[in-house]
Amino acid sequence: MTSDQYTFQNPVDRYPSISPPKQSQPEPGLDKELEPKTDRGEESYRGTGRLAGRRALITGADSGIGAAVAIGFAREGADVALSYLPAEESDAQHIASVIEKDGRKAVLLPGDISDAAASRDLVAKAVEQLGGLDILVNNAGRQIAVEQIEDISDEQFEDTFRTNIFAIFWITKAAVPLMPPGSTIINTTSVQAYNPSPFLLDYASTKAAINNFTKGLAQQLASRGIRVNAVAPGPFWTPLQVSEGQPKDKLPEFGKNVPLGRAGQPTELAPAYVYLASPESSYVSGETLNVNGGTPTP
Ligand code: NAD
Ligand code: MG
Repeated sequence: MTSDQYTFQNPVDRYPSISPPKQSQPEPGLDKELEPKTDRGEESYRGTGRLAGRRALITGADSGIGAAVAIGFAREGADVALSYLPAEESDAQHIASVIEKDGRKAVLLPGDISDAAASRDLVAKAVEQLGGLDILVNNAGRQIAVEQIEDISDEQFEDTFRTNIFAIFWITKAAVPLMPPGSTIINTTSVQAYNPSPFLLDYASTKAAINNFTKGLAQQLASRGIRVNAVAPGPFWTPLQVSEGQPKDKLPEFGKNVPLGRAGQPTELAPAYVYLASPESSYVSGETLNVNGGTPTP
């Protein structure tokens, strides 16, 4: 029997503690080029119908965390629209094929969400092709490590904010009027929101903003029956880390400093998003669920 997320096992060695070799990819990185490979749930996520009939839009769904969430949602019975950059078409096609093999619909929506009009267009196309929308996962993000503030260009600072937080505003603003009561919004923040690395000044501050935006919007939308929550991952092995996300000399040690002693695999995040998306979390809103290998959080 293949093991899945319900198999009783020691979390320390559910996956090996990896020591990724130094490697580099242009941004955005591709899962298909990543060494070692990641587990996004193709063989290891088992669905039990928790999202039957739901319609989800997920940004950054071609790779890493978003891809694992897309597979998890589809296996729980949802149709999924995948947002990603055009350069990531091959990763997106792979995830779409997994979803279709599960008998669910995969809608492919390439585009650059650091642009307001493109963000609005993304929502319109997702709603049209899914026939509605009741789950929104704002997960896309960029992360470029720079050691010194003098070396962060104004352009990088602005691009990071446009992609990581402005796009959440544009996409959510367009989606909310179209989402019925019972719908759920989930934003991907980070442990960086509380424990910023000195070389991620721009990135970490967008993640703190996402936490705050989540808690404010959750209160605003509560009476409309829409819940808003966040997931804060710790170190997960994804293409983000090798496309300038980490200083190169830190890659072999990636994820080893958390209490569980290893980096997370993307599929270990899927159940957190499934829980927050499904009606079983009906009394949970404005919450940030930390999935970080045991690092204490505020
Ligand atoms: P990833 O590279 O696989 O995913 C990021 C995705 O963002 C890309 O696949 C891309 O499709 C999308 N994206 C970036 N810029 C875009 C743009 N301008 N337009 C459209 N899409 C764009 O890496 P990941 O680690 O899975 O990242 C997913 C989310 O998780 C990000 O928000 C990241 O900040 C967050 N996160 C990751 C970690 C980690 O350790 N990997 C930890 C905490 C938070
Ligand atoms: Mg990608």
